[in-house]
Amino acid sequence: MGREELIYNSLVDIAGEDLVSNEPEDLYIYSRDGGTTKPRRVDYVVSPKTVEEVQKIVILANKENVPITPMGGGLTLNGLVIPVRGGIVIDMKRMDRIIEVNESSRYVIIEAGVSQGALMSYLKKNYPDLQHSMPEAPSIATVVGNLLIRGHGSLSQYGDNSNMLNGIEVVLPTGEICQVGSCSTSPHWFSKGPLPDLAGLFVGWFGTTGIVTKASLRLYPRPEKRDMVLFATQNPDLIPDVICKITQTRMADNIGMMEQEKPEYMKGYQFIGVIISGDSEEEINYKKKVLGKIPQACGDSENKVTLLEEIPPSSKERFLEEPPFAAVAADFRKGGGFQYCGIMMPIEKVPEAWRRGIEIAHKHGMLFQCANQVMSAGHEVMFGFNYSFNRADEKDVERAKKAMEDTNKLGLELGGIPWKADLQAQKQIVEKMDPNTFELMKKVKKLLDPNGIMNPGNWEG
Ligand SMILES: Cc1cc2nc3c(=O)[nH]c(=O)nc-3n(C[C@H](O)[C@H](O)[C@H](O)COP(=O)(O)OP(=O)(O)OC[C@H]3O[C@@H](n4cnc5c(N)ncnc54)[C@H](O)[C@@H]3O)c2cc1C
Repeated sequence: MGREELIYNSLVDIAGEDLVSNEPEDLYIYSRDGGTTKPRRVDYVVSPKTVEEVQKIVILANKENVPITPMGGGLTLNGLVIPVRGGIVIDMKRMDRIIEVNESSRYVIIEAGVSQGALMSYLKKNYPDLQHSMPEAPSIATVVGNLLIRGHGSLSQYGDNSNMLNGIEVVLPTGEICQVGSCSTSPHWFSKGPLPDLAGLFVGWFGTTGIVTKASLRLYPRPEKRDMVLFATQNPDLIPDVICKITQTRMADNIGMMEQEKPEYMKGYQFIGVIISGDSEEEINYKKKVLGKIPQACGDSENKVTLLEEIPPSSKERFLEEPPFAAVAADFRKGGGFQYCGIMMPIEKVPEAWRRGIEIAHKHGMLFQCANQVMSAGHEVMFGFNYSFNRADEKDVERAKKAMEDTNKLGLELGGIPWKADLQAQKQIVEKMDPNTFELMKKVKKLLDPNGIMNPGNWEG
């Protein structure tokens, strides 16, 4: 039996014939995503149901020295689940059990394939007083995929989503099943500590250090009412001060900022949307009143911030939707390609990023469109530079790629860091990184994954 047949048959023995494929028509979808990454080769896809099956796949991959790439929803748009060196894609979506909700310590234990939409509906139906921080991503994105890349969501003021992680179960690249967090010493998955923070060995690594099979995620009270306060300015220099004043009130659940050049009436305006919540009309009105005073304290008669008192109900509805409307807000062009550079940066760098982002978009013949999220009470901002392009037009794809390269360069120059970095951005980051830090990353990787089978090609510099 040839090696390919042996690997295929072994995968069938592990997961069952219906859940393994090496047929081009099944592999097609796994070899590409919605961004600018060129399709790459995938040899097999397998959809395990249990941690033991994942473990057997990992042991097989070591024995046969075949790469494996764990995949959740595959929705980062940055090619992170398209294998760089072929091999097996492990599609985690069948591991979709919501195992336990703890109402007193407020956490949920889920398997790695549970989607954002499934968790949200489960909580709404069974635990209406609880919620998780829901990203704007399409709801089929997995909760775990998002936790592992430092995603952010509707409760961004409580921290980024990786900060809401209490613990994980992970299959190490050499096949051991390992618990991280309080679940390593107790039946309760309530916290990561007080222990050395080993979750950091798996967060931000793009599936290169292990396969997470379960996670415990913090839940938060869900108040009865949600509403929003919307500000606009034409001067990005005012933004850091406005954000400081908003976060000083400690009233926001989420703070988003955006600008887009189409439709025409939006051009030149930076919008700041603050999502608030409360248990009564009185509480909501009080928050609106306090936040409504912020414009008076910012800028002057020429450079001002305006409170938009009347938000058209249809727009408000879309802002308050869960997940909100990111996917429709982007300026999708004919051909349906879309990718964005999310640069994590300090708030004071936002005005310069804004101005130079417009220059980059125009230099590459694109319209400027950004959607930004303020995180953790203003400790950092995810500045999302959005580029849409016609996927059927190679020149247009190339333009978007170049614009992203320039944007990542700008982000690093401003002291920021590209988020969920594609291969090109990983290289740009590593070039700028303290060489000792990169050496440490390489040592950690070698220690955990001695045969280099886990999503190889990523974080290699
Ligand atoms: C329109 C749009 C809006 C978006 N808005 C947001 C937003 O508001 N907030 C936000 O955070 N993101 C957003 N995103 C980005 C992205 O879709 C989300 O972060 C999404 O949650 C990623 O989850 P996923 O399941 O698609 O991850 P994947 O793309 O499947 O995986 C991400 C990385 O984690 C690894 N991985 C996945 N599962 C495992 C596992 N079980 N074990 C080990 N490694 C694993 C993969 O190998 C990959 O490197 C948006 C995307 C789109 C298209």
